[in-house]
Amino acid sequence: MNVDIAARTDVGRVRQVNEDSYLADGPLFAVADGMGGHLAGDIASQIAVRIITEEARSRPPATPGLLEDYVRAANREIWERAHGDPDLSGMGTTCTLLYLDGDQAHLAHVGDSRAYLLRAGELTQLSEDHTLVQRMVNEGRLQPEEANRHPQRSIITRALGVDADVEVDHLTITLTPGDRLLLASDGLSSMIGDGDIKEILARAPSSDEAARQLIAAANEAGGEDNVTVIILSVLDEGELRTAAASPAADPQPRATDEDAPRAPRGSRLRKLLVVVLVLSLLAGAAYAAARYTIDNSWFVGATEERYIAIYRGIPDEIAGLTLKEKVRETTMKVDDLPPLFREDVLDGIKEESREDAEETISNFKDRIRDFGEPGAGDGDGGKSGGEGGGG
Ligand code: CA
Repeated sequence: MNVDIAARTDVGRVRQVNEDSYLADGPLFAVADGMGGHLAGDIASQIAVRIITEEARSRPPATPGLLEDYVRAANREIWERAHGDPDLSGMGTTCTLLYLDGDQAHLAHVGDSRAYLLRAGELTQLSEDHTLVQRMVNEGRLQPEEANRHPQRSIITRALGVDADVEVDHLTITLTPGDRLLLASDGLSSMIGDGDIKEILARAPSSDEAARQLIAAANEAGGEDNVTVIILSVLDEGELRTAAASPAADPQPRATDEDAPRAPRGSRLRKLLVVVLVLSLLAGAAYAAARYTIDNSWFVGATEERYIAIYRGIPDEIAGLTLKEKVRETTMKVDDLPPLFREDVLDGIKEESREDAEETISNFKDRIRDFGEPGAGDGDGGKSGGEGGGG
């Protein structure tokens, strides 16, 4: 079977670091989209690609059952590294792995990187996203077209590195000439819709051209995330283009250098990793009963009584579902702060780590002290809230 292969990755227009990694080493192909503070997401996705490569070398051939073993081995390694190094705590990655065996395409999948098939002009998403919004779609709480644009679409319910073991989805399809397979990180699907993806895949004359156009389209739409695409076009017998001819098909995993530049501190909220411990969500009525571990997102916010506190999770609610847990409440009140800061705290100030959150708290302590000093305030009084909130 003649296959034209292209693989490309791009940091996008907003992020400083590309946390995606990919493998395009026929017959094995993978996209991994890392998450976690600082360098950790980058490292998690690189480990996934490296372990899968090593496993495939030491345990060929990659039968469907072995594919799952490769992914689980990668999961185990990431999990162990995350637990052995505080800097890597909370890291994780998606992994969508494809193995070509003649005209059979075997998929193993965890997370929200996607596998699509374009066949006879129709685009089908082969993988199901392991995301909170997909769960809500499955339950009829959200329309599918709302899911791609939902502000919390990046919350994933399954990832490598979160637990000692991981459940892996599988799929096998039989390919026919004219088929086009696409593996892509969510930096593509969160920026452009399936209609645009279909159009580009259907029209592009080659895999490489399709890959270039998809990345360009994601960047034109804002490029808010790293974007990675791998495209496999199954050629008719007569077509001359060969898999090896594609200049973009990098036979090696992307960078394995773990000393990449650090992301600026506090740059933005990383993809939040939510692990659903109790799958009672499936019952539909049970959001309240569901338990979540919200691993690697922090913010400084206010309690209902307006005390400043540090939370793990995110300030927003989704369909009435609270995704935060208070880890420390201070004795400072929002109203003790200069007015300029109050709104931010009430909205929730996102932080990269617990340490960053503590730093913000410590800053606030100084602000409140200065604000409370005579002449330092803006005249409408420093302290308010007479029930002794001052620290
Ligand atoms: Ca991503």
